[in-house]
Amino acid sequence: MAIKISAVAQKIKPSATLAVSSKAKAMIKEGVDVVNFGVGEPDFDTPQNIKVAGIKAIEGGFTKYTPASGIPELKEAICEKLANDNGIQYEPKQVIVSCGGKHVLHNLLFVLCDDGDEVLIPAPYWLSYTDMTVMVGGVPVIVPTDEKDAFKLKKEALAEKITPKTKAMILNSPSNPTGMAYTEEELREIIGFLIEKGIVVISDEMYEKIIYDGLVHASPASFGDEFKEKVITVNGVSKTYAMTGWRIGYAAGPPEVIEAAGRIQSQVTSGPNAMAQKAAVEALIGDQSEVPKMVAEFDKRRKYIVKRLNAMKNVTCVNPLGAFYAFPNVSGYYGKELGGEPVKDSISFCNVLLDKAKVAAVPGAPFGADAHIRFSYATSMERIEEGMKRMEQALG
Ligand code: PLP
Repeated sequence: MAIKISAVAQKIKPSATLAVSSKAKAMIKEGVDVVNFGVGEPDFDTPQNIKVAGIKAIEGGFTKYTPASGIPELKEAICEKLANDNGIQYEPKQVIVSCGGKHVLHNLLFVLCDDGDEVLIPAPYWLSYTDMTVMVGGVPVIVPTDEKDAFKLKKEALAEKITPKTKAMILNSPSNPTGMAYTEEELREIIGFLIEKGIVVISDEMYEKIIYDGLVHASPASFGDEFKEKVITVNGVSKTYAMTGWRIGYAAGPPEVIEAAGRIQSQVTSGPNAMAQKAAVEALIGDQSEVPKMVAEFDKRRKYIVKRLNAMKNVTCVNPLGAFYAFPNVSGYYGKELGGEPVKDSISFCNVLLDKAKVAAVPGAPFGADAHIRFSYATSMERIEEGMKRMEQALG
């Protein structure tokens, strides 16, 4: 008889983004020419100076366990980065380094949630937030936003969802999947409203450097002491420095939260990868000249893909202000047939797109937005052009 799996494990869905990209990868392996818009990682190589720092660490024998919550050198580099870029003053004891941003978020939710505590998650949301909340015994409470407000949260929608059980909110700006990014003024209003009510805010700033149209990224923890007491800033090196495989993320916040997260981490993973931590020091405080080059390339692609999508019949796409995703509404096709196949939702739309046009995109349903699908434009301009041409033909 099969081993019985725990109730919590049964509730956890596999990551939909990884599922689509593995189906696309399997097709590619079979020789099918798929244009893959599914992958949530930069297509650029990790900058050379960062690789060299990692190689030097290995060659210098920096290959053993490190302190569980990260090496002091990296914590200091993170403090320096947060002070210089974000205007937030932290001491190293207020910083934890974990195995990627995902791991940071899981640790934090673990520390914050007792059974039944509610976590506010504005939709569309990065799909791991909900499953991670469930994993630690919390209850995800989805706060809707509207496409016509460019997916920005309204205070009234938030107020409706707050209960005595509300413990925290996860705010992600710039956003995966919509590319929405808040201004400082908007953030002050939303976060100010939450912290007045004693609600903790996890500010996921993973895409802070990938931002367009002159918008300036604002970090809520920098807005004043009352904000800093309730806001935990989450970031990492994966997206900004094309370092998804190195697995380094970090959080800075109130010492009691960071200390508890460190204790949990010490029992689960020990310290993050030693040489990746050395490479992350170089990423954060070394030469930054590759970052604007990557962002400029993303920006060109963003303008192009959004224009092409909006030119398609029955497709509308809000202009993304950050990250590397376009999140068009394709619900004009639901209830119709495409290439002889019925389309009823974002999942069937993406399946038809993959099967008929050999274009891989991620359905919006697991992001809490079934009217939409997500395109990652972290792929070359040539492939974007080809993908848009194929999609246009398939929508014919
Ligand atoms: N937060 C957001 C919004 C993301 O999109 C991602 C990755 O896709 C992460 C966190 C996690 O990043 P990492 O690869 O460092 O775990």
